Amino acid sequence: MPLAYDPAENERFWERVRQLPGFPHGEEICLRYMLIESNALFRIKETLNFIGVREERPLVVVMDTTPMRRGEDDLKPLVLSVLKQAGWEVETCILQPDSSGQVHTDMPHILQVKEHLGAEKAVVSVGSGVVTDIAKHACYLFDQEHGAHLPYLVYQTANSVSAYTSNMAPTLIEGVKRTLTSRYPDALICDLETLRDAPREMTIAGVGDLLAVFVSLADWYLAYRLGMDETWTPLPELLMGPLDELLVQNAEGIRHSSLEAMALLAKLITLGGIAMSLSHATAPLSGFEHILSHTLDLQNEVRGKAMALHGTQIALATVLGAAAYHIFLERFDPKQLNCEHCYPEPESMHKLILQTFHPLDPTDRAGEECWSDYRIKLEKWFSVREKLPAFLDQWEEIRPEVAKRTRPPEQIRKMFAAVEGPTRFSELEPPFEEVEVRFAFLNAPLIRKRFTIGDLFIWFNWDREALWREVWETTQSTLEH
Ligand SMILES: [Zn+2]
Repeated sequence: MPLAYDPAENERFWERVRQLPGFPHGEEICLRYMLIESNALFRIKETLNFIGVREERPLVVVMDTTPMRRGEDDLKPLVLSVLKQAGWEVETCILQPDSSGQVHTDMPHILQVKEHLGAEKAVVSVGSGVVTDIAKHACYLFDQEHGAHLPYLVYQTANSVSAYTSNMAPTLIEGVKRTLTSRYPDALICDLETLRDAPREMTIAGVGDLLAVFVSLADWYLAYRLGMDETWTPLPELLMGPLDELLVQNAEGIRHSSLEAMALLAKLITLGGIAMSLSHATAPLSGFEHILSHTLDLQNEVRGKAMALHGTQIALATVLGAAAYHIFLERFDPKQLNCEHCYPEPESMHKLILQTFHPLDPTDRAGEECWSDYRIKLEKWFSVREKLPAFLDQWEEIRPEVAKRTRPPEQIRKMFAAVEGPTRFSELEPPFEEVEVRFAFLNAPLIRKRFTIGDLFIWFNWDREALWREVWETTQSTLEH
């Protein structure tokens, strides 16, 4: 099955995407060249030239300290030598891990890169999602400050996350992940041999990050129908096509890291990034499963633990989110809902949030940071109050529209197992205890202004403890088989 929209067709791709409903016409999109093919590494010179970077222009190459392989070679020295041989003067900017042993997207790293930048330079990042986000956002801040546009090329080292082609940067602020407005790269290089030789877990994580759509697209649509998000368009789902069929058909190739499957996965990931960028929101690929995952990250962060691979954690969170949807779609009865009781007092929610996050951060900084975002959502919910009766009246029509955007939890688990993804939170690295997953499931809605199904369970006064037990038990028992 070919892709409906193939980003590697570049000009033709953009021409066709421009026809899609919801395309933001009149907007400058600097992402002009996406090279997704075997030995793309050796076309880096023409790619840089294509985006206007001549050999006289010094390059800042941003990398972390993780050793990477490409066939027999060390990848990073190889990329540097290809650039030098092509005639470029190269300055490296090496990102160091923090005490958890990992590099995270945070302001200190972003500012470290920014110090290397100059109007006469161009930037190449060689790395996975975090390195890309750091370099991208440093370029964005530089552009903003200098009224410039630094040419920026992303050399993607793993099919790990749908971030490489997004114009946003998820960044840690006060220990809480926030999505900052950022910019597109000008060019993307996906060298299939590099992607093939990336650690298997990273490829598996990339599949996991894509699976998010089976919760996030339902959340986004639901938000739209409730009046909580007017920005909804069908563009992301049209752009990404029948993702479940594509993943099932290519599961074996992904398992064996065939070059064809690496290309397909890279393209899907690219489409995911573009879908978010064109929507000016991460919402199409980031719903309840992502905030649940961020709440797990938050717990690791305050305990000084490393974070599990993003996409892998997302896949497991998606299974929980899909189970919650399954229950909601089956049992929600609009006739039983008393609209008067759907609007909690802001002060009581503020207290609840501080109380909830106090054990994680006794300074209450994390709690206040969560509240500052949550209150925006709550105010919005109050302001669209008059839309709720119509939503309830139309539920019979809305329900199938939501249902077709999600999938049964068992089907999602199977798709992930088909690429040898782990199926239990205890198999993640670091592993999670049930009590931590429960905390995330119940409190995720409190950390973000993004509306998700999790908010409805709170505002519609569901017995969330019972819901959690059922979600955990049903997803655990399907995992037993
Ligand atoms: Zn993600």
